[in-house]
Parts: sequence; C-alpha cells; structure tokens
Amino acid sequence: MSASSRKRIVLLGATGSIGENTLRVIATHPDKLELVGIAAHSNHARLAEIARAHPGVRHVAVFDHAAFAAAKSAHAFPADVALHGGLAGLNFLAQLPEADTVLVAVVGTAGLEPALAALAAGKNLALASKEILVLAGKFVMAAARASGAKLLPVDSEHNAVFQCIQGHPSADVSRIVLTASGGAFRDWPVEKLAHVTVADALKHPNWSMGPKITVDSATLANKGLELIEAQCLFGLRADQCHAVLHPQSIVHALVEFTDGAMLAQLCPPSMTFPIQHALLHPARAPGVDAPLDLTKLLSLEFRPVDEARFPMLRLAREVMHAGGSAPAAYNAANEIAVAAFLAGHIPFLAIPQVVDKTLQTLTSFEPADLAAVLAVDAEARRVATSSLPTFRV
Ligand code: NDP
Ligand code: MG
Repeated sequence: MSASSRKRIVLLGATGSIGENTLRVIATHPDKLELVGIAAHSNHARLAEIARAHPGVRHVAVFDHAAFAAAKSAHAFPADVALHGGLAGLNFLAQLPEADTVLVAVVGTAGLEPALAALAAGKNLALASKEILVLAGKFVMAAARASGAKLLPVDSEHNAVFQCIQGHPSADVSRIVLTASGGAFRDWPVEKLAHVTVADALKHPNWSMGPKITVDSATLANKGLELIEAQCLFGLRADQCHAVLHPQSIVHALVEFTDGAMLAQLCPPSMTFPIQHALLHPARAPGVDAPLDLTKLLSLEFRPVDEARFPMLRLAREVMHAGGSAPAAYNAANEIAVAAFLAGHIPFLAIPQVVDKTLQTLTSFEPADLAAVLAVDAEARRVATSSLPTFRV
C-alpha cells in the first residue's frame, strides 16, 4: 500500500487505555494507517506528545473548556496543528474530510454525538464505547444504515462475533455467547463482597483497562452492557444473547448456528487484536502482540455465570426483555453508581441497588427520537443521584 492509500484515522479518547492500544497498532503499521486527528477530555499534555510523535495529526480537540484554554497557552503542539474545543471540536474531528475511519473510545456516552456525526459524514465508525449503543443503539444503527457507513465493533467480544458471522446469513445464527472473565471477585466468597475496596475492584485478573470499565467487570455490569450492545449490533432477540464465565479470556465469543455448530474466536487478552481488526478491515496483517502459543496453553474452562453473585447481569437481562428506554436508564444509573463507588461514597454492593432502584422508579417506554433517549438518560441520572444518600458508607 502506498503512503497515499493509507487509511486515515481520527481517534477520540486518544489518552485512555483503548487510545494507547490504538496508538500501538498505528505505530506497528505506518504503511497502512495514518493518525490525522486526536481528542481527549482534558489531558492536553499527552495529546501534545501524541501529536509530536504522529506528524499526520493536524487537528486536536480538547473537550474541557479550561483544559482547552490551557492547551492553547501552553504552545506544546506543532505549529501546523489546529486546536478545537468542546463537543463542537469533537464533532468537527468526527467529520474531518480527510479521515476514513473514526475510532470512538471516549468513556461513557459523551462520544454519542461525534459517533453520529461520523456516520452522517459516511466515515467508517470503529466503536469501543459500548455505552453509546446501550443508550441510543436504535438511532446509531439507523444512522449507519442511512449513510451506508461501516460500523466496526472494537469491544473484543463483539469484534469476535463480527468475525465469526462473516459470510453467514443472520437467519442461520441461533445464538451468541459472550465470554466473561468474572472480574476481580470471581473467586471471592460472597460474604467478603460487602467489604470490597476501590483498590480491590481496580485489580482485574486478565485485562488492563480504564477505571470505569474495570469496576464494571467486577460487578459484571460490563457483561450486561455488552449483552445489550450485542443485541443491538447484530439485531438479535434477548433470548439469543448469552454470557458464560471463561476465566482465561482467550475465547472472546462463540456463535452457535441453527445446525448446532459453533464458531469461536480466540486470541490473547490484548485489545490490540480487535482494534487492529477494526482499523484494517477487511485486510489482515501481522499484529502488535504475539499470537497464542498452543504448546503453552493448558486449558480453556467455561462455567455458568452465577446471577446471585452478579445482580447487574440479572438486571441487564430484565432490561433487554423490557427494551425501549430501559437500557438507557440501566446505563445512566450504573455510571452514577460507579462514579460514587470510585469516589468512596457508596459500598461496592450498593452499585446494583442504585441501578435496581432507578429502574423501578422509571417507567419504560419506546423513545421516539434521540431527544427522548437523552431525557431518559438525564432523568435516570437524577433518580440514581438522589438515591445515593440511602446507600452511603
Ligand atoms: P479510559 O478511562 O482509559 O480513557 C477514557 C478516554 O476518554 C480518555 O482519553 C479521556 O480523556 C477521554 N474522554 C473522557 N471524556 C471525554 C469527553 N467528554 N470528550 C473527549 N474525550 C473524553 O477508558 P477506556 O479506554 O478503558 O475505555 C474507553 C471506552 O472503551 C469505554 O466506553 C469502554 O467501555 C470501552 N472499552 C474499553 C476497553 C478496554 O480495554 N479499556 C475494552 C472494551 C471497550 P482524558 O484522558 O483527558 O480524561
Ligand atoms: Mg468487552
């Protein structure tokens, strides 16, 4: 591939865990990929380092207004880089005329508008931010259909399903099974969970990720969000989406077809594999990390998930059956509860209680448009926040 035919990438959330792994993938394939735009919430010092290391970067967006002002006065960016601020800055980057693919790896739902902007402009959307699909999946999928843009899942399990179903008619898929490592507490006695600290919850056995998703892995809300994400991405019914515990995180998902045959996708637990797949799609090339060494692989275990230990999974299943606005409320209440837990305001076991209480308070309905979904998101945040004092440590 000549330099001019390289895929040009915009990376939103460049300073985070997915962002750093994406930079490793881009650095491994300078002949195939070129970084042209980057964005973050406030870490402008790291954005400046990234811009200096990638001469193709001409546009940088900083979401936070104070950090944007600080970035402008720091003069740390190369002279040919234009700085943009706020959500408008992110939206501008998502529609950069020179970009081919926009990778959205902004934690939470702040990347929703930029993701929709990228699809509207016909860009390939490589999507890591699962919360966006849980909040507004119906509208994101409709935007992709309307523009014909490709939506490439970056979340490892969904990227695995995407790979397994290629070339198979959707009517032949009977169900999908996402694997879950079980998070930090999969082997803890249930009685000890009442005394979990923030430091305990941030120790993930297999993956190194940002704090929010690491807590979500410990409660299994991450798997709940992923089941909802899968339902939406692949157009499945709730009863076709399953999760299974797989402590090794080597098999990322399995697809079962109507004849009972299953296809699985395997690779080491490193996000560089799904990120590279999404960025190079449909091409393949040697990756950043070494592939599996089957002479060293001892065993692959699978066991059912204990929903009594992980109520966030049970709640996700209820939400999938309810449909409509329920997933948006689940996601918003979970974000509030996780932030309160990380700030030391509520105990670990209160996270599902905050979400349950929010879901019970709000009546589910079918949102007619994006504004209705955003109103549910705001209302669920308000209800969840007002319930926090009940659960204080
Ligand atoms: P991190 O917390 O490590 O990073 C978050 C990134 O988002 C940072 O670059 C942060 O910038 C940026 N950000 C936050 N808010 C905004 C905003 N309003 N505007 C612009 N940028 C913003 O998160 P992860 O990388 O772990 O996760 C990112 C997303 O990917 C999440 O949705 C997660 O669920 C999903 N995901 C992550 C996986 C992983 O392995 N980490 C696996 C699968 C999915 P700053 O540094 O300035 O705060
Ligand atoms: Mg995942």
